Amino acid sequence: MNVVYLDNNATTRVADEVREAMLPYLDELYGNPSSMHTFGGQVHRKIEVAREQVATLINAEPEEIIFTSCGSESDNTALMSSILSSPGKRHIITTRVEHPAVLNFCKTMARQGYRVTFLPVDKGGRLDLAELRAAITDDTAVVSIMYANNESGVIFPVQDIADIVKSKDVTFHTDAVQAAGKIPLDVKKLSCDMMSISGHKMHAAKGVAALFIRRGTRFSPYIIGGHQENGRRAGTENVASIAGFGMAADLAKKHLQDEGEMVKTLRDRLEQGLLNTCPDPRVNGDRENRLPNTTNISFEYVEGEAILLRLNEFNICASSGSACTSGSLEPSHVLRSMGVPFTAIHGSVRFSLSRYTTEEEIDFVIEKMPPVIKELRELSPYGANPACH
Ligand code: PLP
Repeated sequence: MNVVYLDNNATTRVADEVREAMLPYLDELYGNPSSMHTFGGQVHRKIEVAREQVATLINAEPEEIIFTSCGSESDNTALMSSILSSPGKRHIITTRVEHPAVLNFCKTMARQGYRVTFLPVDKGGRLDLAELRAAITDDTAVVSIMYANNESGVIFPVQDIADIVKSKDVTFHTDAVQAAGKIPLDVKKLSCDMMSISGHKMHAAKGVAALFIRRGTRFSPYIIGGHQENGRRAGTENVASIAGFGMAADLAKKHLQDEGEMVKTLRDRLEQGLLNTCPDPRVNGDRENRLPNTTNISFEYVEGEAILLRLNEFNICASSGSACTSGSLEPSHVLRSMGVPFTAIHGSVRFSLSRYTTEEEIDFVIEKMPPVIKELRELSPYGANPACH
């Protein structure tokens, strides 16, 4: 069997149609879209087609979309722009479970003297909206709250959040990098001012993303230079990737409904299969309001990294809530914020599916996991009799 790729929240395979859409711009159509000649002009037109395709995915207007290099750049741009557009305001609100692209940006601003409120979540990974409402003051420059969490898959009630934030006349940004292409997004209904999405999470290539900036929103560019993207993001465009991103958005829009249901059915089959066969499993996060492709399961008293290494022997790719950084095991800030016990955080595995996941692959994982968990528990100092510890 080939690779069983269940790490789609990390990145996705480039769709065949996307690769096809990209190739001409890596080959004969290499002109600079800013050039005056016809050769460059046709490249410029392709960018505008892609802008329309990406806008359509989230029901935005094409002129409300700028292309960036990655979701992290979109997040940083949204936050920096909000801060620069509100001189005198020194307060930022976000959550404890954001992606580092938001979290570490906010920590950096805190070191620059900004006051940052990091809203907590409960054990289901849910926010308390009363706490959000209470945190907003006249000094708040921006609220940035993710649409869906990359580790737990939990979807926040972004519409309610937007209503609260906008009722206080504060800028609202949402990081929808994990939501785009997986669940329907509609910025005409959702009153956010800015929204980040990223190509490589939805079967486009790496190195391209977008930021939605609602018409009328005050905006300061993050990358300053030439006049590209209507003066809102300088730098010669990553044309091939943008063309592919447009195609990926088109595919996602067309197939969102049926693929979402197919992926959810497979995710539930995997989850139930593992819950039925592995000792002491627990699903982390709200199981109702969740991305259809994600499950985060803890296997107590086993190291997640050890599980991943064993799965790797079967060519199964997933990811763990403990990342080995600079030689030390650092437990996931998301699971920690949800109050998941350390023994369970260390034994957590995230499986994230895509439209390319098959039933055969899911059944292969259900077959391979139980003996892996059993064997690792026997090796663990707690494993043989966890109740003693
Ligand atoms: N935001 C979320 C929720 C993510 O999951 C990620 C990537 O994992 C990012 C932002 C950053 O996106 P990129 O890898 O395109 O910089």
